[in-house]
Amino acid sequence: MPTSIKTRRSFLLSAAVAGATASTAWRKTFAAPDPDAYFAGAAEREITPPEGMEITHFIRENIGVHDPLYVRALVIRDSSGKQIALVSADALGAGFATCDEIRDRVKEKCGMDEVWFSCSHTHSGRWVLSTPRSDREYTEELQWDDGTHVPLIERPAELAWNTSVHQKIVDVVREATQSLQPAVLRTGRAPVKVGINRRVTRPDGFTHMGWNRQGLIVPWVSTLSAHSKETQQPIFILFEHAAHPVTVPHTSRLVSADFPGAAVAKLRKSLPTDCIAAFGQGCSANINSFPLRTTHEDADAAGIKLGEAALVALDKSNVITGDSIRFHTIPTILPTMPLPSEKLIEAQLIAQKDHPDRIRQLKKITAYRATGQVPPARRLDAHGLMLGKEFCLIGLPYEHFSHTERWIDRAAPFANTMAFTLTNGGRGYIGSDAGLAMGPNGGYEAGCMPNWSAHEVMSPNLGPPAVGSEKIIQSAIAALWS
Ligand SMILES: [Zn+2]
Repeated sequence: MPTSIKTRRSFLLSAAVAGATASTAWRKTFAAPDPDAYFAGAAEREITPPEGMEITHFIRENIGVHDPLYVRALVIRDSSGKQIALVSADALGAGFATCDEIRDRVKEKCGMDEVWFSCSHTHSGRWVLSTPRSDREYTEELQWDDGTHVPLIERPAELAWNTSVHQKIVDVVREATQSLQPAVLRTGRAPVKVGINRRVTRPDGFTHMGWNRQGLIVPWVSTLSAHSKETQQPIFILFEHAAHPVTVPHTSRLVSADFPGAAVAKLRKSLPTDCIAAFGQGCSANINSFPLRTTHEDADAAGIKLGEAALVALDKSNVITGDSIRFHTIPTILPTMPLPSEKLIEAQLIAQKDHPDRIRQLKKITAYRATGQVPPARRLDAHGLMLGKEFCLIGLPYEHFSHTERWIDRAAPFANTMAFTLTNGGRGYIGSDAGLAMGPNGGYEAGCMPNWSAHEVMSPNLGPPAVGSEKIIQSAIAALWS
């Protein structure tokens, strides 16, 4: 058994036996190997969309706020001056154009060497869009990326809110950088379950959305925290769990960060007032929070449970050694599943004649077939932040199955891991190879034509990723560690 695995097992054991909810361990005196190895700072800003600006997803009227939405920045600098900003937003998501824009702007304005932008995936907020530019055509690719067919420039109220979000991201990173102080970094883990696997396969082989209580989930919360060397108080706690934030009912017309917001609120109540708590969404493509779409009170209860688990993880956390930040990106392309047959397309052109969106997709497929082209591939940059030998955070665009996070946890040569999805771009789902191999039976997240409820059929790629994508992603992640 490799040493790293042994270390991880004993680490997990100590986390698993933790029962207390009051966080105290970080108050103890601890010795970092290098007294000035790391610096940390954090800040937050409210980004709640105003009343009247519709909530998505599902799209619905916005008559007010249940709990406000925030963007938060955590900045870590090492002894050489290298620094990274981890920005987390209460948002449904953001495409590549938006994330590229945010990351470039923050690097330039705040002097960051690296910036990650991650979304919590709350289904009671907004999608963050790119800023309109006169020198940029609003192409179909950009429309898919922004999740809208109507240019933002034609919606002044939304443009104003979206612009303010972009500005607040710069502001929040700048403020976090200005508050940098010598810090000890710690990482912890504790068991918790907020969701249940949502992919149920019927006896006839078709997969639909339901409750698969035996299905794979990620039954823990992992934390990365920074503690002031001077006061030993926590500066920030970053926590990650994998579950779609869908406990708030889709009939609610109130903006909410769903259970991640309630978890942050729980942490804020339990920790010093100036400690920033920020949530990262794990590999939750096949996990729904439970209970599904019921009440704001249920979302609060799930968040409190998650927050209490994060406090246990913090209590049992271990010091991260080393003196440098290491981050890498492996640019990766995922091929798309082969196009449907000509016969299937012909039949669908007749069957879907009353669905203009579907007909549009079918005509594109026909054009690709006519010229012998393969469907467009997906960009999927794999990002890694490695700290000492104790901690690794993987950041992935798109939504990924829990299998990916479980694989990262098994394969990573680090004592503890976190995986963020909806990070630095993406739109929709990357199925596991097993899900993709089911073809049309692969369900909402992985199915292909003629399953029109399969999300990726209605995408710029004209279908889900090809079988084999899981291995490509794993290779990219492993390359981050080499
Ligand atoms: Zn989703």
